[in-house]
Amino acid sequence: MKIVYADNNATTQVAPEVFQAMKPYFNEDYFNPSSMYEPARKTSQALGAARAEIAAALGCGDPRQIIFTSCATESNNAAIFGVASAGGGFGGKRRHIITTTVEHPAVLGVCKEMQRRGYEVTYLPVDHDGNLNVGDFIRSLRSDTLLVTIMHGNNETGVVFPVEQLSRLTKETDSQIVFHTDATQTVGKLPVDLDGDFRHVDLLSFSGHKIHAPKGVGALFMRRGTPCRPFLIGGHQECGRRAGTENVPYIIGLAKAVVRAVGNREEDYQHTARLRDRLQKAIEERISHIQVNCKNAPRLPTTLNVSCHYVEGEGMLFQLSEEGICASSGSACTSGSLEPSHVLLALDVPFTAVHGSIRFSLSRYNTDADIDWIIEVFPRTVANLRNLSPYWDKKTDSPRSNVDELIRQTH
Ligand code: PLP
Repeated sequence: MKIVYADNNATTQVAPEVFQAMKPYFNEDYFNPSSMYEPARKTSQALGAARAEIAAALGCGDPRQIIFTSCATESNNAAIFGVASAGGGFGGKRRHIITTTVEHPAVLGVCKEMQRRGYEVTYLPVDHDGNLNVGDFIRSLRSDTLLVTIMHGNNETGVVFPVEQLSRLTKETDSQIVFHTDATQTVGKLPVDLDGDFRHVDLLSFSGHKIHAPKGVGALFMRRGTPCRPFLIGGHQECGRRAGTENVPYIIGLAKAVVRAVGNREEDYQHTARLRDRLQKAIEERISHIQVNCKNAPRLPTTLNVSCHYVEGEGMLFQLSEEGICASSGSACTSGSLEPSHVLLALDVPFTAVHGSIRFSLSRYNTDADIDWIIEVFPRTVANLRNLSPYWDKKTDSPRSNVDELIRQTH
């Protein structure tokens, strides 16, 4: 069976060029980059070159500001715990953190932990379209605010927050507040210019496996002078900012993937946006009682999140999977649970649709044939499932006339 992979926000296939670039570092140039002998020097140089390439691709003049990590989760943990443990340079007097209700669990979970440790966290809401209110954001900044951590692109809806503006407003209000952004879904897909539009961002997290590098490698950009204590303590690697022998082959892969994604960014943007828009239009035309979440917000071109009334997301995923289509009912990290995702709850998606949400996420490797197949299978899947729903009237092919009453009785 042909597989149509439409879950690229969860992970991506490793690009052949990335795999090729990594290969020699497993069994030829396998040396520890910290070792002193000649062959290791070559490995160390390759590590330095990878750092320089990533820095250049992201508009960062000083490559030493790029720290390699194992994943974006680690980068987010390192950023938030690191800033808190440095006390923001204020001897621990600043104990307020600002974030949003729609962050990835790798930020939300750390913020919850910060609350357990006595920090106060403001969770900014979003509107029905998934947008933040900039006025609310400004009003949430306080004299004891230590850190702002707000994502760039949302993994479930694709909504892009105006990080350039929010980081600038933060620094204009109080230059000592640290600004962190989780850019895991946007590096290589949207412009990220660390010394340009992003010059007010102090810390930026991302990982390789969303842009065709392998799983298990990521990076944290840390602007020089940012008060942030190391998260992993041990050896002197990464200038003492992240202990542990560097994962050289994967870092080489990460650099290749970043350079490649940034180089192809505009072409990939056009390609994925065209496919996504085709799919969205067909779904809107062929399936009744749906809503395309956040379609009026600035969105990543790769992401389409649809809520279908009167169907179960898990049922849709199962039937799509039977036909070779891989998608997600929420973020990969939450799809194991039947609870509606916190992002859809934050958007206030109606009760009858929140359980029937599905995310298609595309990459440069998706084709028109993939979209054709989804367009053929998905409407049929929704129709099949609706015919099994107690809320759906098969004869009229519409919700039962007493659907509100039925919902009240069952919930
Ligand atoms: N942040 C965002 C926005 C994500 O989409 C993800 C993964 O889905 C992560 C963080 C975690 O990334 P990793 O798997 O590299 O830890």
